[in-house]
Amino acid sequence: TLSDRLSGIFTKLRGKGKLTDADIDATAREIRLALLEADVALPVVKAFIFNLKERARGAEVSQALNPAQQIIKIVHEELINVLGGEGRRLQFAKTAPTVIMLAGLQGAGKTTLAGKLSKWLKAQGHQPLLVAADLQRPNAVNQLQVVGGRAGVDVYAPEPGSGIGDPVKVAKDSIDVAKRTAKDIVIVDTAGRLGIDEEMMKQARDIRDAVDPDEVLFVIDAMVGQDAVQTAEAFRDGVGITGVVLSKLDGDARGGAALSVRHVTGEPILFASTGEKLEDFDLFHPDRMASRILGMGDVLTLIEQAEQAFDEDQKEKMTGKLLAGETFTLEDFLDQLIAVRRMGPIANILGMMPGMGQMKDQLAELDDSHFDKVTAIIRSMTPGERSNPKILNGSRRARIANGSGVTVMDVNQLLNRFADAQKMMKQMSGMMGLPGGGRRKA
Ligand code: GDP
Ligand code: MG
Repeated sequence: TLSDRLSGIFTKLRGKGKLTDADIDATAREIRLALLEADVALPVVKAFIFNLKERARGAEVSQALNPAQQIIKIVHEELINVLGGEGRRLQFAKTAPTVIMLAGLQGAGKTTLAGKLSKWLKAQGHQPLLVAADLQRPNAVNQLQVVGGRAGVDVYAPEPGSGIGDPVKVAKDSIDVAKRTAKDIVIVDTAGRLGIDEEMMKQARDIRDAVDPDEVLFVIDAMVGQDAVQTAEAFRDGVGITGVVLSKLDGDARGGAALSVRHVTGEPILFASTGEKLEDFDLFHPDRMASRILGMGDVLTLIEQAEQAFDEDQKEKMTGKLLAGETFTLEDFLDQLIAVRRMGPIANILGMMPGMGQMKDQLAELDDSHFDKVTAIIRSMTPGERSNPKILNGSRRARIANGSGVTVMDVNQLLNRFADAQKMMKQMSGMMGLPGGGRRKA
């Protein structure tokens, strides 16, 4: 599955200290393959990979997350973006009734959705009317009546034997019926075909013109793969749609359809249908779907926790310091590192990732040795050097490298990272309105 492929990709990033452009390219290439295998449409994959690369290259060095976690975070956020970000709610008409038309292939789940949606709306105090404008199959009207009965809402359908076989007329008449019977929402169920055909599209268009809908919801089976794009395009062009409903999300849908449809139609996914029962229905949540595609609920939670723990701890301390007008020193820098450390070994966090359990010890060592190095360097400095690193000339740096068992390059690297952190702290204190960015009192 897509989730398995992605976790395999992230596993490869585990031991990296820093992401190079080559790492990013290689990772992007594999994610691209994983998406294509999950039946995500090519234009969607291209856009996704483009954004991913841009963001990974420009990623700020996060002190709370390691490179693998940073990439997971970016992929997760980009998945949410592709799925529609915040999502959108139903649009209601200014004057009742609000008309919602359902469109999609046969078997997509329209009639089931009609029942679910009407029940959901009724629970919110609306008075929906279901309209049987699928007169194609003999049993379609009956199916809607059964569903309506379960949902406890009225169904408008031609009388059996009345000879009315015209779905456009039924749809048109239903608006008057709704007004007469004080219904504020009309949900029009329509016929579908197994494949896209012009006759079906024309009928859907005629129904649309007859009822002037506020929403045309395109219902699509989340289990379909590459066909999703073609079908979505056909309905977008043939009928015009305002929103999408993903059905059968309870199956082992690979997520490809969900990712493609939103991008291809440009319309939001409004609802998710997750079973045969009327209650198996919810607003569509892009963030939940993204987590599901990523298949890393635990890891995502840990990433969030790591960021939060770091933020709170550091914010409190630094705010106090900055308010006191003190400069951020190498001692503070060391404190920060210790705070990161206190969140628990990063190896543990990474160990939650599938397939990484056996790498745990090696990872812990890697992290520890890096951490120990930095600590040793700072401890090898005199107090004067720690509070004023500007005096660290070549010979002092060589002495420190010698004393802490590292190379001069390691010392330089640490001092550069510290200079960046110090700059950031200065800006922060400036934003807090402190004169001169804070000066250490002697
Ligand atoms: P329509 O032809 O578009 O009206 O599709 P239907 O509403 O008749 O649904 C076709 C079949 O899919 C029926 O057997 C439904 O019970 C089933 N179905 C619809 N929605 C879902 C869903 O979200 N999950 C599952 N598992 N089955 C569904
Ligand atoms: Mg139906």
